Amino acid sequence: TKLSEEWLQKYVDDWVAFYRKHTKEGKVASYIPVLKKANPSHLGIVISGNNGITIQSGDVSIPFSIQSISKVFTFITACMQRGISYVLNRVDVEPTGEAFNSIMHLEMGKVEKPFNPFVNAGAISVTSLLDGSTPEEKLEPLYELFEKMLGYRPKVNREVYQSEKESSVRNRAIGYYLLEIGALESDLELTLDTYFQQCSIEISLQDLATMGKILANDGEDLKTGKEIIPRQIARLVKSLMLTCGMYDASGKFAAYVGIPAKSGVSGGIIAVVPPRARANELPFLSGCGIGVYGPALDSQGNSLAGIKLLRHISNQWDFSIF
Ligand code: GLU
Repeated sequence: TKLSEEWLQKYVDDWVAFYRKHTKEGKVASYIPVLKKANPSHLGIVISGNNGITIQSGDVSIPFSIQSISKVFTFITACMQRGISYVLNRVDVEPTGEAFNSIMHLEMGKVEKPFNPFVNAGAISVTSLLDGSTPEEKLEPLYELFEKMLGYRPKVNREVYQSEKESSVRNRAIGYYLLEIGALESDLELTLDTYFQQCSIEISLQDLATMGKILANDGEDLKTGKEIIPRQIARLVKSLMLTCGMYDASGKFAAYVGIPAKSGVSGGIIAVVPPRARANELPFLSGCGIGVYGPALDSQGNSLAGIKLLRHISNQWDFSIF
């Protein structure tokens, strides 16, 4: 009802104002030079409810590059194109406990496939599975998926893409390791170029919330009743978000926030609140999607204030799936 929406909005406004103070404790990513331009004091959240109601607060209209959040959707695209078992034969579903760009496991030579599709090694491997002989061809089904979910085709931010490409030493190193263990199914340069483009796609907070809501509802668009992502793939990707989505802080996020989420180094987080049996008090939040933006990061590479804000909201509104 109207009154309760107003209340919820007021609460969220207060929490954003409070957690914005914590943005000072974080740092914007600098290993991709263009990301340094972000304003570290920005913090915003969009919550998209199951009945079309949206709560937004803070800096909600700053476009940013999707970065690692793209890994969720290239994984979905690869599974839709190749089938789940084909993809899972080439990339595992285990958390690493290492940083997102670690090459340790590959270098130790004990594994024949990357640990999961959300660390860079696994993501680059997944990108190599996509059909096509140019980055544009490979990414076409990803754009089609975005278009179905969002109603428009997001675009690559060329400046981010160039910067990413020029500062790609580590990702190149990962690429060569993958080549060595036979974990690439396309040419290395083509794969890397595609990966840099997918990370540079520009999106908004509203987009993250919309996509989160579709995942929350097992791939169904509640507006049309259409299945955009096959249910089995939506469930699989949510399990990966829960176990591997927040870099090497995924365990803490599962324990303290308790919902599937994926972050990126530009400061975005997509979070998914699956429908809950105990949602009687706030029914429109059952099966909602959340986008958070806060470019000042903690030492694991997650939005520092963004995580605190999500943790607070999840505790207040009883979001944990456990
Ligand atoms: N494009 C970034 C990289 O590959 C993405 C990292 C991230 O968001 O975690 O280093």
